[in-house]
Amino acid sequence: MSTLRFDDRVVIVTGAGGGLGRTYAIEYAKRGAKVVVNDLGGDRHGTSASTSMADKVVQEIKAAGGQAVANYDSVEFGEKIVETAIKNFGRIDIVVNNAGILRDVSFGNMKDLDWDLIMKVHLKGAYSVTKAAWPYFRKQKYGRVIMTSSNSGLYGSFGQANYSAAKMALVGLAKTLSLEGQKYNIFSNALVPTAGSRLTETVMPEDLVQALKPEFVTPLVVYLTHESCTETGQIFEAGAGWYGTTQLYRGKGKVIPHATAEDLKANWSSIVDMNNARHYNAQELMGELVSALSEHGNSS
Ligand code: NAD
Repeated sequence: MSTLRFDDRVVIVTGAGGGLGRTYAIEYAKRGAKVVVNDLGGDRHGTSASTSMADKVVQEIKAAGGQAVANYDSVEFGEKIVETAIKNFGRIDIVVNNAGILRDVSFGNMKDLDWDLIMKVHLKGAYSVTKAAWPYFRKQKYGRVIMTSSNSGLYGSFGQANYSAAKMALVGLAKTLSLEGQKYNIFSNALVPTAGSRLTETVMPEDLVQALKPEFVTPLVVYLTHESCTETGQIFEAGAGWYGTTQLYRGKGKVIPHATAEDLKANWSSIVDMNNARHYNAQELMGELVSALSEHGNSS
């Protein structure tokens, strides 16, 4: 099988100064890409900043013969990050939205600042960088986007109301951008990684943090953003050497014309039956609703 190369491709990896992002940046560079290593260099709670994290990764890439440039802007300022790509490398092909922080606290004790900072870095950040790259993607009819989601978003996570809300929002963003981007050959997917890092070291035992190497996630990001990959609008997971996909499934449900709350109670087992559940796209969902309406007509 031939190597998946990224020669002449320019990649922005946000939050690439450590953890998962660092491994992506290094791998892209190994495969010939020119990489913008973005990192604000703050702590895991989103306070403080420094240039050293991004600089270190750029040095590592250059020492191995690769091409990279550092950018220290917060992901809220996507235009500046994309400008770094354009100024240094003349184009932008791939955006890996990876930067992240945590402000874990139970919902009752959550402050507005905890909510706002999480939304700013994860959701506004991914929006901002992707939005700034979008006109280039459209013009060149090529673009690949990764939105980093989380199991906390898909399933909920105690103490992470802010983080889980932002991470699920990124699934919606990835899906809508896949619809809007498809005719321009812009593909967008959501990634659900699990890895040991400074974000997870507070919630995982030390041996698991060491064992769950970020490098296990890297091949999925690389493949999803390669020109040969046609996946878009999907959710993919990686961790511990396991790779898979997660989809939203909808049960068959039941049409109950002119239903009352009591009718729903009486039919609840059919309404929540998932035996014949399947994945739908938005058009199919509307088709189902239109056909439900026609059943109303027949029964009235
Ligand atoms: P990490 O803390 O090692 O990496 C995140 C990086 O983002 C840091 O280097 C940090 O300096 C940078 N960053 C933070 N705020 C920034 C900002 N405003 N602008 C630019 N850079 C900023 O953590 P990680 O585990 O490698 O996480 C990477 C991504 O994966 C995050 O989005 C995280 O939510 C997500 N994620 C991780 C896991 C996991 O198991 N590690 C699970 C689910 C999701």
